[in-house]
Amino acid sequence: MTDVDVAVIGAGIAGLVTAYTLREAGADVQVFEAADHVGGRMTTLRRDGFLIDSGAEQIPTRGYPETWRLIDELGVTGVPRIGRPVAMWRNGKARNGVAHPMGLLTGAGLAPRARLDLMRAVRRRPVSGTVAEFAAPWHRDVLDYLCQPVVSGFFGWDPARSAAAPFVELLTSFGSSSGWRTYRDGMDTLCRALESTVDVSLSCPVDEVTANGRVRIRAGRAEVTARSAVLAVPAPVACSLYADAPEFVRASTFRPMLKVHLMLDHRPASRAYLVAVPSVENPAVSVILFDHLKHPGRAPAGHGLVTLIANPAVVPPLLDAPDEEVVHRLLGAAAPFVPSLATGVRGHVVHRFRHGLPEATPKALALRAGFRPDLVDYAGDWVDPSPCSESAVRSGRRAAARVLRRKELG
Ligand SMILES: Cc1cc2nc3c(=O)[nH]c(=O)nc-3n(C[C@H](O)[C@H](O)[C@H](O)COP(=O)(O)OP(=O)(O)OC[C@H]3O[C@@H](n4cnc5c(N)ncnc54)[C@H](O)[C@@H]3O)c2cc1C
Repeated sequence: MTDVDVAVIGAGIAGLVTAYTLREAGADVQVFEAADHVGGRMTTLRRDGFLIDSGAEQIPTRGYPETWRLIDELGVTGVPRIGRPVAMWRNGKARNGVAHPMGLLTGAGLAPRARLDLMRAVRRRPVSGTVAEFAAPWHRDVLDYLCQPVVSGFFGWDPARSAAAPFVELLTSFGSSSGWRTYRDGMDTLCRALESTVDVSLSCPVDEVTANGRVRIRAGRAEVTARSAVLAVPAPVACSLYADAPEFVRASTFRPMLKVHLMLDHRPASRAYLVAVPSVENPAVSVILFDHLKHPGRAPAGHGLVTLIANPAVVPPLLDAPDEEVVHRLLGAAAPFVPSLATGVRGHVVHRFRHGLPEATPKALALRAGFRPDLVDYAGDWVDPSPCSESAVRSGRRAAARVLRRKELG
């Protein structure tokens, strides 16, 4: 049986940040990762000259202070601005200007009255209740042409279930879409930089965690004991590994997400790199991403890479469907928005996330106030809970600080 100071389960960005921070403070840390690579939901697949971001797509310049601090600390370079508009689909056209000051003039799909309502709604903080309740007093467009397409397309949320507070927080903290960036060499760049600073056991799925004075981690036939452990996995996974997970962890549910990446022999015309599609316009596809516009290096010269994110309503039945059925369904749904899409597809990749993004329900938010992790601690985007990688980075820093504090006391 091996013995370590701290065991971290999961080498997504939260687990890697936890381990890196602990290692910097001199702790003996071992990370256990089920997959054969690090990154979790911030992974990039490299195939035939295409760079396919399987989960996260971009980071903003504003509102991600912990991420930018880490980028500086690790000396990571090559995080250029995307420099292309974000659009909302309405009445047969992509309306540019979402998350941009220009949108106040052009509307970006919102009627003039709805633009005013949106500004008034966002100013009314603190916000409680669900996204649908937040939008209910205002012009119908606030829900149909902003809240629903953004929360469903970006976070996989159902507006009737998920809390409004984290959404409004993100809406106001990200700043203009003109400041949104992506990693030139793939969204896994920061995770790969972190991996080089810590000890990670890849292809090592943990089966069970128990705690009784010390923590025991069982991975297949191997057993490791540790002074403390950090479960840096989605909350439902943490509950399946550790039977004594507190109530907040049990209440932290996730929504599934599904993406289809299409490798094309041409670059379809679009000014926007991202087009959000409201449910009222199309029930199956939520977002169309022109990855080759996000960064030209995402596809070989003359080729295109387009990603389709499924509407949450169609995700559950498609999660276990064969790839060909998923591609057929989403390609058919997206064809009216990008007419040249149906021709020239030379390959596809389907990414399924059973635990796509934390759902951030009002119940989970309320229970968080009483959350006091012990020698089994937690990190991940659900701890805050905010559906973005900044939240995962922040949670990793905080989990490491708690572990160090307990170590000093013990
Ligand atoms: C489709 C999609 C789009 C997104 N877009 C953006 C975006 O544009 N910008 C942004 O900031 N965020 C985005 N996000 C959110 C972002 O990807 C996540 O917030 C972040 O990556 C979460 O990191 P994490 O470390 O908390 O979890 P994860 O990345 O899920 O890491 C958990 C790790 O634990 C491992 N693991 C699971 N079970 C075990 C086990 N039993 N034993 C060992 N290891 C295990 C997994 O393999 C994984 O590597 C997106 C997410 C999705 C799904």
